[in-house]
Amino acid sequence: MSQLAYHRVLLKLSGEALMGDEDYGIDPKVINRLAHEVIEAQSAGAQVALVIGGGNIFRGAGLAAGGMDRVTGDQMGMLATVINALAMQDALEKLGAKARVMSAIKINDVCEDYIRRRAIRHLEKGRLVIFAAGVGSPFFTTDSGAALRAIEIGADLLLKATKVDGVYDKDPHKHADAVRFDRLSYDEVLSRDLQVMDTAAFALARDSELPLRIFNMSHPGELLRILRGENIGTLVQG
Ligand code: UDP
Repeated sequence: MSQLAYHRVLLKLSGEALMGDEDYGIDPKVINRLAHEVIEAQSAGAQVALVIGGGNIFRGAGLAAGGMDRVTGDQMGMLATVINALAMQDALEKLGAKARVMSAIKINDVCEDYIRRRAIRHLEKGRLVIFAAGVGSPFFTTDSGAALRAIEIGADLLLKATKVDGVYDKDPHKHADAVRFDRLSYDEVLSRDLQVMDTAAFALARDSELPLRIFNMSHPGELLRILRGENIGTLVQG
């Protein structure tokens, strides 16, 4: 039986996490390493769902800044998340895992539609589930999709992988004296105006008391160590 601190988790990866040293697209070595880490966590006994952003391909806000209609741009962004999800599904299956992409927008020649009960069933059957297309509507982000799906499937924890190893009082890339928080309450995040997730996603998590852990996925092995209960990164909870 699993000796883990968490039974069911949702891991949010940004699209940029797949780029490696490139400035666009997917680096096969990087997605393969991430897939390894996810399988390692699942093999230890956790049910793992994933949400992957699309920022390595398109973001609606960026396309709109270039003159495109925002809703069309967001739809392209959502399709970008489907592309990343399919790439992750492939990487996971190449390594012997079973995985299913479920999309919030109907595109069921390439993946399943998101159906909550079916998603939970996949997890119970030992499949990894990748939720694509965010919440399925423009003007949202995959952070919101991650918070929403985590709540819907009853995840114990939403893990947000970032390029820094937690939440700091100021940008650690710009300030050498930046201090990392081990733990924060939802109210502290708001009162200190800290950037953890976008506002809509954070509000959802807070209202449902969904615990969040922000950590650096480029440190190999940390995902599993977190699931075993180690205090890595920053924990945000009530
Ligand atoms: N998007 C959207 N609705 C959603 C989720 C995503 O319209 O529910 C679009 C939006 O344009 C967003 C893009 O998809 O910029 C990619 O998602 P996101 O920016 O969250 O990706 P990340 O920054 O995590 O790579």
